[in-house]
Amino acid sequence: MTKTELIYLEDSYLKEAEVTVLEANKARNSVILDGTIFYPEGGGQSSDKGRIDSALGSSMVIHVAKQGNHVYHYLEGPLPSEGEEVTLRLDWVRRYDHMRMHTAQHLLSRIIFDKYGARTAGNQIHAEASHIDFAPATFQSEELPAIEAEANRLIEEDHPVTITVVDREELEKEMGADRSDLSRLPSSIKRLRMVRIGKFDAYPCAGTHVHSTSELVQLKITKRKSKGKERIRITYQLAPHKIK
Ligand SMILES: [Zn+2]
Repeated sequence: MTKTELIYLEDSYLKEAEVTVLEANKARNSVILDGTIFYPEGGGQSSDKGRIDSALGSSMVIHVAKQGNHVYHYLEGPLPSEGEEVTLRLDWVRRYDHMRMHTAQHLLSRIIFDKYGARTAGNQIHAEASHIDFAPATFQSEELPAIEAEANRLIEEDHPVTITVVDREELEKEMGADRSDLSRLPSSIKRLRMVRIGKFDAYPCAGTHVHSTSELVQLKITKRKSKGKERIRITYQLAPHKIK
């Protein structure tokens, strides 16, 4: 079976692409493509939305999900034919906010790990507001302004965000015990996609990220909520940006 090429992993700023339909499913009104710029829901990041233009017209992409080696694009509108070449158009405003929010999540997770040793236990990336769960964590509301100030200092310093695929064994030697805790990953994974924020943070991630921290503009922590014993949820938002 042919695999869907995950184009967004190579270039997260690509807003349009020409691809070929491998499989069209009438019952689910979904297509599998030979390549995609649409991020399928996963790792806490919401799925992309957008359009697919085919000979039959324009269809809305309402949800994207990964199953096995394939990425299913669920459509509203005409179903393109198998073998047909189609044009993908991303809802870029939504995706760019997801990218900014995801990089901001890595930033906050690192700051809070360094300050309090609190690990990230979960996160949800949305365009408007995102949250991260830390556990075990005990930091209080009074400590939020210092966390926020540190995040905004790193945003202002404009650190590059770079992505490299590295050998897991080498990385384990280099990193030792860290917030990324590589031991939690299945042993079958031998190569890791590392997302680095300057020299400040390195974390394995298959999400979409911006090129530099300045794209986050400004970060605001809007809520701290206890989610049980030593589990704290932080909600944050980002100031609006100029579209890239
Ligand atoms: Zn990530």
